[in-house]
Amino acid sequence: MTKKPTGPMQAANKARMDRLIEQIAAETEATAFFTGRQKLSPLVMTAMARVPRHEFIPESYRVSAYLNVPLPIGHGQTISQPYIVALMTDLLDLNPEDTVLEIGTGCGYQAAVLAEIVPHVPTVEMVPALAAEASQRLRRLGYGNISVKLGQGRLGWPEHSPFDAIIVTAASDDVPQKLIEQLRAGGRMVIPVNTERGYWGQQDLLRLNKRNSGEISRTNVLPVAFVPLIGRD
Ligand code: SAH
Repeated sequence: MTKKPTGPMQAANKARMDRLIEQIAAETEATAFFTGRQKLSPLVMTAMARVPRHEFIPESYRVSAYLNVPLPIGHGQTISQPYIVALMTDLLDLNPEDTVLEIGTGCGYQAAVLAEIVPHVPTVEMVPALAAEASQRLRRLGYGNISVKLGQGRLGWPEHSPFDAIIVTAASDDVPQKLIEQLRAGGRMVIPVNTERGYWGQQDLLRLNKRNSGEISRTNVLPVAFVPLIGRD
């Protein structure tokens, strides 16, 4: 719990934020059959309530910043739905000292949520303009504990590895091998993977756990829809 947003959040946004948090709690209960989680941890809910989502959204969509929906951020990319951000964060089962790698920085919103919980968040983005904008935005908002790298996320970020947790916010056909390698024994990974059922743009959200033996166990959590993870190793 390190950084506070600069400047006071407007009263209207505070009321919208309160409503959004209630909606996340309600959607968590409604999907508990799939996820096995009736409630998200207070650590995650507090982090969600602290990040000013309107700061991550282009001017023209700002009025919708506190709706529980994904929104366009330019370059054909999106900011994820708040409920999904909260759920994925929860599925990482973070301890406050963990190191978490994010793949797919986008606007930087998910990274900010993580940075409210853990000391340092390395995050990798492939689109140069998004990486530059996110980096500048996060600095302006006071998130000095997030490092943005421009690069191929499938390769992870070996210099910061091993990670206690890895979160991938774009969908691929497989779980990239380098990411598995950079996960610590006992580490958790959350990643959307394209289904074999053949629906376009639909994936399964997977939660992986690396055992002390190095063996990987995976659970299929929920059907989701993410933009694609581009490129190859
Ligand atoms: N985490 C974001 C969601 C980003 S959408 C949030 O908080 O809202 C997914 C992002 O992944 C996009 O910005 C896209 O450019 C990026 N991306 C896609 N393929 C990638 C790859 N191979 N490596 C790194 N980033 C990638």
